[in-house]
Amino acid sequence: MMIDLELLEKGLSIDDQNYQFFVLFGIFDKLARSLINNMNGSNGYFGCLKCYIQGSNVSFKNGSHIIFRPESRILSRTHEEYLKDIDACNLSGTMIRGVKGETILSRLRFLRPTKSIVIDPMHTIFLGVVKDLFRYWFDSPVKE
Ligand SMILES: [Zn+2]
Repeated sequence: MMIDLELLEKGLSIDDQNYQFFVLFGIFDKLARSLINNMNGSNGYFGCLKCYIQGSNVSFKNGSHIIFRPESRILSRTHEEYLKDIDACNLSGTMIRGVKGETILSRLRFLRPTKSIVIDPMHTIFLGVVKDLFRYWFDSPVKE
């Protein structure tokens, strides 16, 4: 099935001229990004679109969390490796390094999800790092 974005890449004929449109970049809400890229969520194993950090499961209160410890060497997720992971998913029917399979975006001509999709600042920075810093600064028992 061809999606509208693919139709735009083929071109629209207007007044005997063919106009082609290509998606070059994208930004998505953090939760939507994993869905539209058909990947594991950012709080799951291999949930990062940009690299291959695996994460590890730690117990926390009544459940557990996947945490990502700083590692000395984290491999970047290249577009070529991303496409190989999609192919491996299609063959095996299982998730490979956080990739669950093909997505509507992986068929676009110029979009390279690992490079072209930027990190959502709302959840990553403002509700992520900054929120944690404020909690650390103002909820800490030490007032220094
Ligand atoms: Zn990463």
